[in-house]
Amino acid sequence: MTGVAKGDPVVIALYGPCGQCGECRVGDVTRCWSETRVHNMHGRMPDGTTRLSLRGQVVTPMVGAGTLAELAVVREAQVVKIDRDIPLELACLAGCGVTTGSGPRSTSPTCASARASS
Ligand SMILES: [Zn+2]
Repeated sequence: MTGVAKGDPVVIALYGPCGQCGECRVGDVTRCWSETRVHNMHGRMPDGTTRLSLRGQVVTPMVGAGTLAELAVVREAQVVKIDRDIPLELACLAGCGVTTGSGPRSTSPTCASARASS
């Protein structure tokens, strides 16, 4: 890993871009639908395997990240380093709810029309 170090506070994204497909190479990471990203959505690593098991059974993390657990195994592309001054109980909400809600709200034509008429 190059962008984060042990002990850094981070927010985990459900699935990160692959960084290698055409869309990622031009910086349009929201359009990345590589096999790596699809595996992420199902809680698997880029090679299609999971790093987790329980009593010999394969376990996949909930919604690709397993963030309800105390520990998680994710790709570096799923990790966003945050400032140490940000309370983690607030950062976890921002990492999920805000990005999920604010992205469509700021880019969808319906919302843009509603905003323009209000
Ligand atoms: Zn990609």
